[in-house]
Amino acid sequence: MGCSFMLVCMCFTLYVYPHLSSTAVSGLENEVDEGSLYPEILRDEAVSRLYELGKVSDAEGYLERTFMSPASVRAGYLIRSWMEDAGLRTWIDKMGNVHGRADGSNPSAKALLIGSHLDTVIDAGMFDGSLGIVSAISALKALSVRGKLGRLVRPVEVIAFSDEEGVRFQSTFLGSAAIAGILPASALQYSDKSGSTVQEVLRSNSLDATEGNLHELKYDPESVWGYAEVHIEQGPVLERVGIPLGVVKGIAGQTRLKITVRGTQGHAGTVPMSMRQDPMVAAAELIVLLENVCKHPEDFLSFDEHCKDSSVKSLAGSLVCTVGEISPWPSASNVIPGQVVFTVDIRAMDDMGREAIIYEYSKRMYHICDRRSVSCNLERKHDAGAVMCDPELTAQLKSSSQTALKKMANEFDGEVPILMSGAGHDAMAISHLTKVGMIFARCRGGISHSSKEHVLDDDVWAAGLAVLALLESDM
Ligand SMILES: [Zn+2]
Repeated sequence: MGCSFMLVCMCFTLYVYPHLSSTAVSGLENEVDEGSLYPEILRDEAVSRLYELGKVSDAEGYLERTFMSPASVRAGYLIRSWMEDAGLRTWIDKMGNVHGRADGSNPSAKALLIGSHLDTVIDAGMFDGSLGIVSAISALKALSVRGKLGRLVRPVEVIAFSDEEGVRFQSTFLGSAAIAGILPASALQYSDKSGSTVQEVLRSNSLDATEGNLHELKYDPESVWGYAEVHIEQGPVLERVGIPLGVVKGIAGQTRLKITVRGTQGHAGTVPMSMRQDPMVAAAELIVLLENVCKHPEDFLSFDEHCKDSSVKSLAGSLVCTVGEISPWPSASNVIPGQVVFTVDIRAMDDMGREAIIYEYSKRMYHICDRRSVSCNLERKHDAGAVMCDPELTAQLKSSSQTALKKMANEFDGEVPILMSGAGHDAMAISHLTKVGMIFARCRGGISHSSKEHVLDDDVWAAGLAVLALLESDM
């Protein structure tokens, strides 16, 4: 197909990722004892803080902290007290983000921002978001106890973002998007289930965000050097390769579709099989088609000699597709449904590749629906482009992670893996402000968004050491 060929070729020629070279870690690090592993700060205290934060919840018996909820506000104050303990200057901005800053030796230099989110999903794990905040504060504290905060080559600011999960207002990144300057003023009027707006819940916490002053939260890109985020992997790769840390080459783009299949509703006992227009079996075929397309995109997309094999492999390597929700109507065991609606979530590192997949899938979907004499409708509900992490910053984070793992286990001679992120992160919003990079920490079974989420104490330590190595390098 000419069209899919064009789409795919464009996408893959764009998808050239520079080789990640190791960057030598130098500067402050040379002056720190080789044995400076700070286990009492980077492991013991960090782990106990993660557990303490994990108990700050709006619900009894499970963890829930949504944007500006009472527990979120308490968590913000707790995080602020830890920032102060690390010697940082702190404040809370009008969107409820908690900031802690060390000016270093050159307060007017461009600042390194390090952050993650303090909100959670419902029945959350205690490491998602919190690990990035706690490990950054701990790394700065390790410098602080040695009296080295003032010798940082540039200002370093930790930010605990108020909203990443988007549970309360169905809108992600309220905190980080405001700092990146991409939050529309209309977001202040989003309302939660009880009818309260973002602006009202901020006001009830004495935070006066208005359409007129929202822009004041935006950071000047000229004042920022880059953004680094530590986050749990939320996938199984690091555990499988047996390495505690990895770095992220990019965050996948995402499309959400809603597909409606309409047929003829009827009696399960009286309509002969040959006379049915059953949207349920059509939906089943469409779901299996989606799996096939996403497992073997090379069988569905056409290429010419300009498109390389490796391009297809790179799409196949990151493409994931999911049907997570399906609702038949009227949903009764003795009725052939009249309608079936299901969702499709498609993610890939390559935006044009994702478009090519959607094009191919929808074309084949309409063929199947015609053959089965049902009608199909595809709606795009959400689109977000992929975000590539900055190659240079990623190389620095890789080097810092490598340094951390080597310090912890002298015999470590493995290579820190380079991963893609299938989940969205604050780094996506901050990429509109500055270059971004991410470190992933191994989590048990790749499980997240669950109380079963777990990170080994030593992996918390490794994450803190990696941030410390970054701070000790010539950023
Ligand atoms: Zn998260």
